[in-house]
Amino acid sequence: MKTAKTDVLSCRLMVIGAGMAGMAAALFAARHGVSTVQAGLTGETQYASGLFDLYGVKHGSTRALIDDPWQGLKQLKQDHPKHPFCRVSTRQIRSAMDRLTDFLGDAGHPYMGYPNKNARLITPVGTLKRTFRVPKTMWAGVQALEEKAPCLIVDIQGLRGFSASQIVSTLKPSWPGLTAASIDISWESRLGPKYAEHIARSLEVEAARRDLADTIRPHLGHAEYVGLPAILGIHDTDTIRRDLKQMLGRPIFEIPTMPPAISGVRLKEIFDIHLPRLGVSTFFHHTVLSVQRQADGRFALEVGRTEPETTVVADNVLLATGRFLGKGLVAERKGIPSILPESRWTTGSGR
Ligand SMILES: Cc1cc2nc3c(=O)[nH]c(=O)nc-3n(C[C@H](O)[C@H](O)[C@H](O)COP(=O)(O)OP(=O)(O)OC[C@H]3O[C@@H](n4cnc5c(N)ncnc54)[C@H](O)[C@@H]3O)c2cc1C
Repeated sequence: MKTAKTDVLSCRLMVIGAGMAGMAAALFAARHGVSTVQAGLTGETQYASGLFDLYGVKHGSTRALIDDPWQGLKQLKQDHPKHPFCRVSTRQIRSAMDRLTDFLGDAGHPYMGYPNKNARLITPVGTLKRTFRVPKTMWAGVQALEEKAPCLIVDIQGLRGFSASQIVSTLKPSWPGLTAASIDISWESRLGPKYAEHIARSLEVEAARRDLADTIRPHLGHAEYVGLPAILGIHDTDTIRRDLKQMLGRPIFEIPTMPPAISGVRLKEIFDIHLPRLGVSTFFHHTVLSVQRQADGRFALEVGRTEPETTVVADNVLLATGRFLGKGLVAERKGIPSILPESRWTTGSGR
């Protein structure tokens, strides 16, 4: 794909953006044998909960909750035919979701879900969330909630943003079998606040899993399930989940933590490692600084950190720069996204 000048790349597809949309697009293109270059900062992926929402809240003002996303999408297409979801068929959406989760499963991070139903699970603030695909490390939590089974929620002293007693006190009126425990993981020797990523990486060693199981065991009581913050490793999460399940004799599940969360770090690391292996030329710490349409119809894109470092000449460009967090949309001082035509800018006086 490289031309004579080493700082010029030629490809069929340039993907601008390295969030979930850009990553999925680069994956699908590479799997179809399309020569692909991708640029973007993967840092935003660390804000992902790891849950893949499809359609769980009705579009429009009612915000009604949706159990069957396919039925919901059918209705959406009737009510709002210009909605972006109407540009793709149900079959395409289903196949894309399967291909994405199969890829993640092959990379050691399997996903679970119902064929035609959104799953419900606990959030770190004790509310319930509907989503379509759930990391396997979180799946037993979906089952525990469905059964309203006796369940122990565990938090870790020093790990901020996750309180078992807060989750339990919020949910207990509708789920009386919930209990909370707060454990001291003195075996995780770093001083000061605990970070989910440090704990997750330490659990990749079996001895740390034994220490964690030994610390949780005295709190089990009648619990049939154990819920933990999302800390079950970065790589090979399923082995850690299975080991802890065996050590404690109960299904274990993770509850997503507040962003930035390791559930996002896992996705980031999988894409960082596997997309280049599939042949995608990645510029993950770079952005596209400018784009020009050439006389031959191709696009010339300058890629770099602050100064152009590489020119990519692409037949096609896929823009996946997200919204405000990823800086795909930028708010001007007047608070109006810059993508709006100037005729629609306003001073906020309701003009
Ligand atoms: C608080 C919060 C919680 C959420 N929870 C969930 C959830 O649980 N489940 C779910 O499915 N969705 C959730 N979402 C929505 C989800 O985050 C977004 O749908 C998803 O991240 C969008 O991905 P994206 O790739 O479109 O954009 P982003 O993830 O924002 O990625 C944009 C990418 O574009 C890149 N970029 C921008 N400008 C350039 C440029 N000039 N050149 C190159 N690259 C550029 C950025 O560096 C970045 O890589 C949540 C969103 C928020 C805000």
